[in-house]
Amino acid sequence: MAQQEDVFKKIVAHAKEYGFVFPSSEIYDGLSAVYDYGQNGVELKNNIKRYWWEAMTLLHENIVGIDSAIFMHPTIWKASGHVDAFNDPLIDNRDSKKRYRADVLIEDHIAKIDEKIEKEIAKARKRFGESFDEAMFRQTNGRVVELLAHREAVHTRFSEAMNDNDLDGLRQIILDEEIVDPISGTKNWTEVRQFNLMFKTEMGSTADGSMTVYLRPETAQGIFVNYLNVQKTGRMRIPFGIAQIGKAFRNEIVARQFIFRMREFEQMEMQFFVRPGSEMEWFKYWKEWRLRWHKALGLGDEKYRYHDHEKLAHYANAATDIEFQMPFGFKEVEGIHSRTNFDLSQHEKFSGKKIQYFDPELNQSYTPYVIETSIGVDRMFLSVLCSSYEEQSLEGGDARVVLHLPAALAPVKCAVMPLVRKDGLPEKAREIVDELKFDFTTHYEEKDSIGKRYRRQDAIGTPFCITVDHQTLEDNTVTLRYRDSMEQERVAIADLHKLIHSQVSLNALLRKI
Ligand code: ATP
Repeated sequence: MAQQEDVFKKIVAHAKEYGFVFPSSEIYDGLSAVYDYGQNGVELKNNIKRYWWEAMTLLHENIVGIDSAIFMHPTIWKASGHVDAFNDPLIDNRDSKKRYRADVLIEDHIAKIDEKIEKEIAKARKRFGESFDEAMFRQTNGRVVELLAHREAVHTRFSEAMNDNDLDGLRQIILDEEIVDPISGTKNWTEVRQFNLMFKTEMGSTADGSMTVYLRPETAQGIFVNYLNVQKTGRMRIPFGIAQIGKAFRNEIVARQFIFRMREFEQMEMQFFVRPGSEMEWFKYWKEWRLRWHKALGLGDEKYRYHDHEKLAHYANAATDIEFQMPFGFKEVEGIHSRTNFDLSQHEKFSGKKIQYFDPELNQSYTPYVIETSIGVDRMFLSVLCSSYEEQSLEGGDARVVLHLPAALAPVKCAVMPLVRKDGLPEKAREIVDELKFDFTTHYEEKDSIGKRYRRQDAIGTPFCITVDHQTLEDNTVTLRYRDSMEQERVAIADLHKLIHSQVSLNALLRKI
């Protein structure tokens, strides 16, 4: 684990050094849990968004997009339940003066018990070798039985307290389990309080009566309140979906793990409107399809898992997360939720407008049910970055850091390099750039030795380097170097476009889903 944390620190440093992610307002010592994307980060991020957008809207003829405003009528957040219930339970430690989410402290504590169980199992597996029967061991080993029972007891109390919004109950678990502050090491805890995660601001001047508005904590509500507009103007027939990419804001209590948990972040959400009664079928469809979208990137199938929710939000009748193996464990990247007709019904109630669909096949009107797919752009970015990062030792004692980014997502697709800065090679290289730049993000690189230039491109994940040498002037061929294998081959300039396109196009990636 310590080693993984080390790698994570290096990835964060790499992201900064190579223009992917900078801490926000850095010259003013930063702003907690807010980040800026640099020159390479913005390209990678835009490519992720394009991959999502095109997969959802091009590959599904019944999904269209919108771009709704961040500010919305404040009653929307009353209707959606966010004003009353978008809370996290907060607890302070009086000695360290640090603030924590009470639920996260308990979840971390449960994870520690799980680790202990896994350790016992790993030890036994080593001891018994081939003949080890894990199921039997779990049932019979005294220590493991005790740990499992303890885990179950804590987990049950925790679920009950969360379901009942029982803040004292949460505090009592922290006290009973003797959970200490990781910084001060003490158990000097305050009461647990509810903390609303929405940012508030004022709209309009006070003279003509200002109104409290919220920065949206999710993009989904912008879709629900436009359901009728899109359905009517687009003449959409159920089932159909509305997709949106945009910023969301949450005043997270504990901001940790770099861009995993931010206060300003971006979501890619799609709400799919279906006939009541068909929602489980569509839930299954989207659960599978979204995982295929992830796996098509080739980051490693074993890095994904589903986490089905036991505790459902009051409006949901099924929910699952797609988790990705980050250096700090399996973590949620995307949520797929069956939201019933909760949101549309609430908006119907609060707005007084009829929000229904007339189904010509059934000859009846109803409030559609909704399946939501909701993925964080920044978490997706982090999963791509972490799984692509590799420190490689090379023959001859050399080393390189390489980002094995999926080619379609790479910020720069190819770099063109004259071997030397004379003899007409730079001019020839420029000619190639001027041809390729219309289709691919292309860098021209002439500074430093060729080896150093390759390393710089490896570090930002450029799939192809093209080197122009003296032979190029004679026969119009160049060396094409592949990032991952570092193999080089001689190819005709005339073939470059086709070759690069076959590897880096989004089209090829979309076909893999
Ligand atoms: P968590 O339990 O980690 O707080 P959540 O279950 O509240 O997440 P959702 O409300 O389902 O998250 O939001 C959908 C997606 O938005 C998440 O899967 C995640 O990718 C992203 N997301 C949510 N909160 C943040 C955040 N603070 N920073 C970055 N991405 C976020």
